[in-house]
Amino acid sequence: MKPAPFEYHAPETVADVVSLLAEHGDDAKPLAGGQSLVPMLAMRLTRFEHIVDLNRVDELFGVESDNGGVRIGAMTRQAAVETDAIVAERVPLLHLATPHIGHFQIRNRGTIGGSVAHADPASEYPAVILALDGTAEIASASGTREVPAAEFFESTFMTAVASDELLTALRFPAWDQPAGFAFDEIARRSGDFALAGAAVGIGTDSGGRINRAAVGMLGVGPTPLRASSVETALMGLAVADADPAEIGRLAADDMDPIGDVHASAEYRRRAGSTLVGRVLADALAQVTTEDGNG
Ligand SMILES: Cc1cc2nc3c(=O)[nH]c(=O)nc-3n(C[C@H](O)[C@H](O)[C@H](O)COP(=O)(O)OP(=O)(O)OC[C@H]3O[C@@H](n4cnc5c(N)ncnc54)[C@H](O)[C@@H]3O)c2cc1C
Repeated sequence: MKPAPFEYHAPETVADVVSLLAEHGDDAKPLAGGQSLVPMLAMRLTRFEHIVDLNRVDELFGVESDNGGVRIGAMTRQAAVETDAIVAERVPLLHLATPHIGHFQIRNRGTIGGSVAHADPASEYPAVILALDGTAEIASASGTREVPAAEFFESTFMTAVASDELLTALRFPAWDQPAGFAFDEIARRSGDFALAGAAVGIGTDSGGRINRAAVGMLGVGPTPLRASSVETALMGLAVADADPAEIGRLAADDMDPIGDVHASAEYRRRAGSTLVGRVLADALAQVTTEDGNG
């Protein structure tokens, strides 16, 4: 099928984008990589009178260091995130999660901002950003604001970005301590959306005690979720004393899965909590290897 007719805009600055969004409001939609929006338009699951293409807005692209952390422009392609040296060094969890997004053809066009703004609860980036206490940078004609990831994902496919606003960048805080990171998911086939997934970051003090725990989950609720029970149980433990399988089971209490044609809610809960345990074991093993403490 073809999309319903729309007026196409190709602005070159953020200022022009937000001015168009202010002018057309609910009738306008930003176009990033198009990997989710274009099929929806083509199948006429949605329609907008004005499509605002972000692909010529240079200031939205790129990865840069930011107070020891990292700032990633919303239009940075997922393929660029996957191969970026700053991301690999400073946000390893994002680096580990990226190859799980669809196939490389999709990652070549798909953007980090598009994935986060789309807010599919089975998507990898939203869970990683939530786990790492990332921040969304949002612009409108009246200025910019920053929204912590914990307040960004409001419900399925709904975020804090209003129709006259643009997500301009994502910021990730630094982890300046011995740390281990791991990501994995369960999908029916490679490249499919996850039935359940887990993103884990573990930080320790110099004595090897856990003083930072970040556990994000995807596919097991209406939005990405944090496994707060798991995080709480980990704090203060020596890495060597943490039993990942047992602690991972606590994640079942933090989930709110639905059943659909792909898997029952019960399957998602059980498989998801087993997965959290496995990914946690992986992250803990890396802390041990890196600081030799374990
Ligand atoms: C076959 C297939 C498999 C896929 N598998 C996965 C997968 O396993 N995991 C996964 O996470 N994704 C998957 N995707 C989706 C893919 O990652 C998309 O790239 C992503 O969901 C949207 O990013 P995009 O840049 O293509 O955004 P678009 O499709 O252009 O936009 C998506 C939505 O976000 C809005 N938007 C985009 N950028 C901004 C912005 N800067 N500010 C405000 N709003 C904005 C758009 O208006 C639109 O509503 C898959 C897609 C396909 C076709």
